[in-house]
Amino acid sequence: MGQTTRTPVADLDVDVDELRQRTRQEAESQREALKSLVGIASVSRDVSPPPQEIGDCCDAVVQMFRDAGVSSAHRDTITYQGRETFPLVFAHEPCQLPGANAPTVLIYSHYDVQPAAKQDGWDTEPFKPTEKPDGDDTRLYGRGAADDKSGIVVHLGVWKALQERLPVNLKFVFEGEEEIGRGILEGYLADPATEDDRFTADLVIVADTGNLAVGVPTVTSTLRGIAIFDVTVDTLGQSVHSGMYGGPAPDAFTVLVRALATLHDDRGDVAVPGLAHDDDFPWEPVDEQRFRTDAGVRDGVPLVGSGTLAQRLFGRPAINVVGLDGPKPWASSTNVLTPHAKARISVRLAPSQDPEQARQALQKHLDAQRPWGVTPKVEFAGAGAGYKANTDGRYYRMAMRSIASAYEQDEAKQTGQGGSIPLVDSFHKLNPDADIVLWGCEEPKARIHGTNESVSYRELSAMTLAEAILLATAGGLIPPTGGSR
Ligand SMILES: [Zn+2]
Repeated sequence: MGQTTRTPVADLDVDVDELRQRTRQEAESQREALKSLVGIASVSRDVSPPPQEIGDCCDAVVQMFRDAGVSSAHRDTITYQGRETFPLVFAHEPCQLPGANAPTVLIYSHYDVQPAAKQDGWDTEPFKPTEKPDGDDTRLYGRGAADDKSGIVVHLGVWKALQERLPVNLKFVFEGEEEIGRGILEGYLADPATEDDRFTADLVIVADTGNLAVGVPTVTSTLRGIAIFDVTVDTLGQSVHSGMYGGPAPDAFTVLVRALATLHDDRGDVAVPGLAHDDDFPWEPVDEQRFRTDAGVRDGVPLVGSGTLAQRLFGRPAINVVGLDGPKPWASSTNVLTPHAKARISVRLAPSQDPEQARQALQKHLDAQRPWGVTPKVEFAGAGAGYKANTDGRYYRMAMRSIASAYEQDEAKQTGQGGSIPLVDSFHKLNPDADIVLWGCEEPKARIHGTNESVSYRELSAMTLAEAILLATAGGLIPPTGGSR
């Protein structure tokens, strides 16, 4: 590792226009590669051994990169504390240019996807890649088309555009269990005892976020963290008649609801003392109308909480019930009291929040709740830290210029992501001095994790160009002041 000191090598230099042309030439094969990956239903489920399609997709990615000349591409797993990851794709290609001080860049994506079924409301078969025109753009529909198989083929396109002039030492890490968050890789990388140079770099590029909108160059500067816990209430030995016992006998579901109701105040802000807020980051403002439309908030339903929308979405905690056991489903309801109720709670944490401190704050708050004298049981299922980029970092600033230049705009925007990528914090712990750049093709229209997920071909090409410019700049092929010459 080390900082690049190479001065541009005249006969090897590229400029933005040449890179634009090269990435355009690769666009067709890049789209075919993406279609072939979308056709593999690599849904990650926490089972052992991993689902067949996970292995198949991993092998397909390895083959794809080998066919493109990445001879070091291979499949491997990591075992940490007795648990084995799903297969990862690794590769390491050395800088092809003279000069010893080329920086090392790690590129990351994941090839596993969220579940999807046609009957959930898809217009097309989710694992049958389908192109549809969108104005003067084309979108490819299918689960994983954006999240995050687009990231894999962006990296593929960048490699193809630069390979014989690769100006950096390039490390590839593609994982297959991002969507289920098994935590093995995160734990391994965050362990101070881990020494694994497959994961060390001067710059880490995580292609797993997206622009504020199609055509609006954006770098993701913050991620929220996450904590998951369960609250269980047991009040009765069995279901009993609500007429004979209702009144004095406590219904477990109602007790649970009263405990959960203490997690927010009357405005809808999280009311758990001790959870951090990050309010001072230069995120682009979030347009309320667009937010309402994207989220499908119905007319007459107000947004909740206080602060700007960007603060609420990117910088502050959010708590939601995401799973529930309790009364019978409505259609089979009878007049009985519920003896047992359990809720799974998902907490999004401020980017700077330490997850362990969050766990303690949540535990303390819930331990103090005794609805009607009943003690709910609280169990934590997992947590992951958020991330706050060093926006003054050398490569971070290069990334801002590279993406602006790819989109032929004067400057790029910064946004946060309300979701979490715990691995980013692990990369940061392992490479505390490295810049981490988060970007990709997952703009809002991509509807990642939702029905009818899709990716814009324009975004795919533009993000490939952005990343190629970043590598060329980091490796000294393009002067760091950037732009076309
Ligand atoms: Zn993803």
